[in-house]
Amino acid sequence: MTSTRVARVSSPKGPFEVIDRELDDPGPNEVRVAIHASGICHTDSLIKEGTMPGGTFPTIPGHEVAGVIDAIGLGVVGWHAGQRVGVGWFGGSCKACEACRRGDFINCSGLRAPGVDFDGGYADHMLAHVDALALIPEAISCAEAAPLLCAGVTTFGGLRASGARAGDRVAVHGVGGLGHLGVQFAARMGCETVAIARGRQKEQLARELGAHHYIDSEAEDFAEALLRLGGADVILSTVTDARAMSASFRGLAPRGRLMVLGLTSQAITVSPGRLIVSNRSIIGYVSGTAMDSQDTLNFSALTGVRPIIETMPLERINEGYERMMSGDARFRVVLTPSE
Ligand SMILES: [Zn+2]
Ligand SMILES: [Zn+2]
Repeated sequence: MTSTRVARVSSPKGPFEVIDRELDDPGPNEVRVAIHASGICHTDSLIKEGTMPGGTFPTIPGHEVAGVIDAIGLGVVGWHAGQRVGVGWFGGSCKACEACRRGDFINCSGLRAPGVDFDGGYADHMLAHVDALALIPEAISCAEAAPLLCAGVTTFGGLRASGARAGDRVAVHGVGGLGHLGVQFAARMGCETVAIARGRQKEQLARELGAHHYIDSEAEDFAEALLRLGGADVILSTVTDARAMSASFRGLAPRGRLMVLGLTSQAITVSPGRLIVSNRSIIGYVSGTAMDSQDTLNFSALTGVRPIIETMPLERINEGYERMMSGDARFRVVLTPSE
């Protein structure tokens, strides 16, 4: 048997165990990807801790996967061995539900996700449906591509969905795994970009990433500071603190949109009056399809957007996961299984 390594979690809250197992061949309409890079996303903690709806154990999380196709299943058209590809949260859709029949594949009621519905990318290899594949442009390495496949597509797609236009004032709330990409995307899209974070430590970096303004949310009322700049047309909210999200709402300009990307079960509280007066809105955004990922990668190649990463071999996954959870990582921990 040809063996391959996977990092598996056997039970809720359990550790990752790196084990050998048999290398599978791809099924119909699937490819096998030899994984070169696999980002650790905060959403994977829901899978590992057992709070993700639909999740089962044992599980192999990992949905920021970049590598090279090394085997092709029956019926695969348009992909071949040797291509560099990425797989994000979108693992494929059913094509039969109402959302799919309208072409809205990310809202498929039977959406398949790595680590939930099939084995994800904390491994040397993974099988993926062709619908999940994004082609990685030459200018971007696998390690850089990995975070763009979830953190990247979420912020890039969130900005596109916000309707932000060139010259609009866009505030990126939180300068972490998502936010440090959001700042770059907003600036490269031609928006007046405001970075908001706690303390002054991230100011210089935020400005280097393209922020035109920086607001320290510990030093002042940041919504008030936004209003002094004229108010935000869009706030890209990457924090996971619903109280901070709620507080940011007051910093919106008329017709401003609060784009919610940070996942939390806490409630956002905003009075109807604040929503109604000046036509403000709160909009959720959930990642994108493989083509959205490919758009994100291509835009990044074109404009120089890159994630800031720390790489680690697969066998150090428990340490990498702890660094992500503690918030100490700058900014994305990327496992490099077979590079
Ligand atoms: Zn993710
Ligand atoms: Zn569907």
